[in-house]
Amino acid sequence: MRDYLVRATANNTTIRAFATVTTETVQKAHLIHETSHVASAALGRTLTAAVMMGGMMKDEGNSVTIQIKGDGPLGGIVVVSDSKLNVRGYVYNPAVDLPLNDLGKLDVASAVGKNGYMNVIKDLGLKEPYIGYVNLVSGEIGEDIAYYFAFSEQIPSVVSLGVLVDADGSIINAGGYIIQLLPGADEGVIDFLENKIRTVKPVTALLSEGKSPEDILDIILGEKGLEILETAPCSYTCNCSRDRMERNLLSLGEKEIMEMIEEQHGAELSCHFCNNKYYFTEEQLLNLIHQGKEG
Ligand SMILES: [Zn+2]
Repeated sequence: MRDYLVRATANNTTIRAFATVTTETVQKAHLIHETSHVASAALGRTLTAAVMMGGMMKDEGNSVTIQIKGDGPLGGIVVVSDSKLNVRGYVYNPAVDLPLNDLGKLDVASAVGKNGYMNVIKDLGLKEPYIGYVNLVSGEIGEDIAYYFAFSEQIPSVVSLGVLVDADGSIINAGGYIIQLLPGADEGVIDFLENKIRTVKPVTALLSEGKSPEDILDIILGEKGLEILETAPCSYTCNCSRDRMERNLLSLGEKEIMEMIEEQHGAELSCHFCNNKYYFTEEQLLNLIHQGKEG
């Protein structure tokens, strides 16, 4: 099953729903960053949420950045997605290794840390980006994203994110869903959802049974007039380029670039998201300073 996102509606459009399978996306992140089991789970859950939040944006060029900073050994997570569902991300310490938690699951909450915050930055093509800030509630990421929606956007949401990691560290499957109550949703539907979610298996278990994102939404919302609106492919894709790296260099300032010239006789920059390396010779750095002065 290739990675994709499903957008749907239910209950006379008072519910909107997203579901996605992100196995290949998370596997690619694992290969690029050589993430440990628990780091794959933490990064993978965040990538999965970002795909669905990318799917909430309407216009080309819109993007969403999720930054999570907790006091656990993982250090932090940064993930970016756009309206075309190109998603990418990294964690500060990809090698973090922790024992399983009391439930026998990868201990994402301890890796992330329970004390900390999450920023959601949405670039909607306006003058200023929208920035939402919440404290972490559990560090499990799904709950933290749900809290962000409730607190920052006033949208009651059910968020389920899952990553199943094999013994050798490869990703068996990954995916998730977000179900949101829009204005006009009645109390009855809230009770219905709460009861339903309690009985539904974890996303990774459903994916292991061969269920698709559409199937998962049907299990939860089938009785409530589920209507699939759209499906769209998603993938781990970086948009870095030499141009972008030049702009990053310029933003460091002339003094910093002169130091690179004098001390290292050049510069090697690597992209945090895909590890692509960009080399600049002494001469190229001098040219950049020159351009910077003209620009
Ligand atoms: Zn890159």
